[in-house]
Amino acid sequence: MSEPNEIREIRINPIVPGESVLVATARSMRPKKAEDLAPRDTRKHVETCPFCRGNEDKTPPEILTYPATGDWHIRIVENLYPVLGDDRTQTNFSFGLQQTIDGYGRHEVIIDHYEHGTALHDMSSTHLALLFGTYRDRMAQIYASDDRLKYVLVFKNFGPAAGASIPHTHSQVIAMPVVPENVQAEVDNSREYFRKHHHCIFCALIDEALTFEATIYDRNSGEIRRKIDVGQYVVERGEKFIAIKPFASRFEWEVHILPLAHQADFLAISADDLADLASVVKRTMARLDAVIGGAQYNYFLHAVPHDAHTAEHAASYHWHLEICPRTSIPTGFELGSGLFVNTISPEAAAARLRNAQIAPE
Ligand SMILES: [Zn+2]
Ligand SMILES: [Zn+2]
Ligand SMILES: [Zn+2]
Repeated sequence: MSEPNEIREIRINPIVPGESVLVATARSMRPKKAEDLAPRDTRKHVETCPFCRGNEDKTPPEILTYPATGDWHIRIVENLYPVLGDDRTQTNFSFGLQQTIDGYGRHEVIIDHYEHGTALHDMSSTHLALLFGTYRDRMAQIYASDDRLKYVLVFKNFGPAAGASIPHTHSQVIAMPVVPENVQAEVDNSREYFRKHHHCIFCALIDEALTFEATIYDRNSGEIRRKIDVGQYVVERGEKFIAIKPFASRFEWEVHILPLAHQADFLAISADDLADLASVVKRTMARLDAVIGGAQYNYFLHAVPHDAHTAEHAASYHWHLEICPRTSIPTGFELGSGLFVNTISPEAAAARLRNAQIAPE
C-alpha cells in the first residue's frame, strides 16, 4: 500500500548521469539510522589528544601553522598513517588481470581549530575564512611542488558516523598521481554539456534552483500580499555563494555550496570571496545541526584538476563543496545496485533546512 504523498522515483544526477539515486519515502525503505552510532566528542580540551594545543610533540612533523608564530589557530601536520606517500620508490606492475599504479602522493592533516570538539558552525566566520584560505594556500603549494600530482583533494570527516578516527576537529589533504574518477566524470560531462549548450551546467543548475516563486494572495480581497522568490532547492545564500539541495541528493541532508559567479578553480578564490563563503558555510552547518541535531558528516572540495587540461575546463567546470551528513548506513541494496537510497524528498529536506531557526551571527 502506498501513501498518497509518497515519492518513489529514480533521479538521474544531471552532471554525472551514470550516478542515480532512488528517492523512496516509504517507511520500509528506511535504513538503519546513524543515531544509534557513538555520539561525537564535544569537549574543548583533552589532555591526551595529539591535536590539542600543548601536545604538539605528539604529532608527526609540522608543515605549517597559522599564524606562523605564537599560539596557533590552525596547524598542518603529516599524516601518521598516510594512504599515499612520497617516501619510497615503488613501481607500477601488472600480473595477469591484476594491475597497480604506484601509490605516490601526499597525505596531510589540517587541524581545523585548537579547540578539540568544536563544530564548524560554532567557529567564528573569521576563523572559517582562515580555514578555507588554508585549504587554498596548501593546495596551491602542493600543486606547485610536484607536477606528478594531478589532483589535490581536501576533505573532512566529522564524527564517528562519518569515519573520523580522531575526535579532534580536522580536515585532510590527499594529493594523488591520478584525477579521481568521480571528479573526472564531472569534468568530462560538464565539458560535453558546454559543447552542446555553450554555458556551464553548474551555472544552469544554480539558475534553475533560483527560479521557484510563490505568491501569497489576500484571502478576502485577492490582492497580492507577499511575493516570495526563494528557490525550492536553496538552503542558504550569501552575496557570492549559494547552498543548494541537489535534486538527485544521494544523502538525506546533502547540501552543495557553489560560487554564484562562474569559477572553475578553487585556487582563484579571493579574500572577499572567502569571507562570504565562511558565513554561508557557517549558516548552512548551523541549519544542518538544527535539523539533524549534532550533524556528523563528510565534506569535500571538487575543483578543476591541475593537469594538462586545466585551461580547457575553465569555462565548463565550476568548483563546489559537497556536504554529506551521515544519518544512515548503506545497505546491501545500495552496495549491490550502486543506487543510493534517499528516504526524504530533497524538496522537503530543503524546506526544513531553510525554515530551521539558527542563531544570528
Ligand atoms: Zn584535541
Ligand atoms: Zn559555472
Ligand atoms: Zn562534485
